Amino acid sequence: MRIDVLTIFPGAFVGPLDVSIIKRARDAGLLDLEIHDIREHATDKHRSVDDYPFGGGQGMVMRVDVLDRALEEVQSLDDERGLVVYLSPQGERLDDALVRELARHRRLVLVCGRYEGVDERFVEHCVDREVSIGDYILTGGELPAMVLIDAVTRHIPGALGDEKSPEEESFADGLLEHPQYTRPAEYRGWQVPEVLLSGHHANIEKWRREQRLERTRQRRPDLLPPAAAEDERKGEV
Ligand code: SAM
Repeated sequence: MRIDVLTIFPGAFVGPLDVSIIKRARDAGLLDLEIHDIREHATDKHRSVDDYPFGGGQGMVMRVDVLDRALEEVQSLDDERGLVVYLSPQGERLDDALVRELARHRRLVLVCGRYEGVDERFVEHCVDREVSIGDYILTGGELPAMVLIDAVTRHIPGALGDEKSPEEESFADGLLEHPQYTRPAEYRGWQVPEVLLSGHHANIEKWRREQRLERTRQRRPDLLPPAAAEDERKGEV
């Protein structure tokens, strides 16, 4: 998979995406991540990417001409122009289903806004999807882009290694994951649930299923469709 990022802060991407699973995926050639500086497409001597909003008001707006030139050039770097995603608090909220959908594309082009955002004509004419990482305002689209890249990379076949599958994580089957424990079996009198030490695989599986349902009921009842909840209660999931 190829992901291109357009940003005015390319340096922000150094570090978080150079460790662990993302680094391994990049080193193995599973993820080709290219970061591009929007400022290189500015034409004035100050390399401006923003200007005052028409109609007045606070802050600055990213210019449509600079963004369009940057996008055109980046898209031309590959045969496939890719799905253009603008990270925006006004976009559709990122969740597991949207991550899986985005991960099916061979190429994504992520656009990070700054200031008051981008000129709306860029969104109308150049952007395929607007994606938000939650109902709050961040200073720029760089952190949201990194969140999206991390989440999507986990769904690239082979990125998690052989031993792990994204299907075993929270949300994959509509439920939160069961609690996890490791050694020591007892610490300061805090015990690991007895069933996990029993070696009885069927009982362990049953306990985990119950825990997944209980956690989801308590913490995220909104995730539970009524039919799934009933199936789970009967042990049919
Ligand atoms: N004026 C905009 C508004 O009220 O909708 C907010 C602009 S925000 C300060 C600057 C940039 O940060 C946005 O263009 C966007 O790229 C990014 N951003 C901020 N919050 C975000 C969120 N929750 N999800 C995705 N991107 C976000």
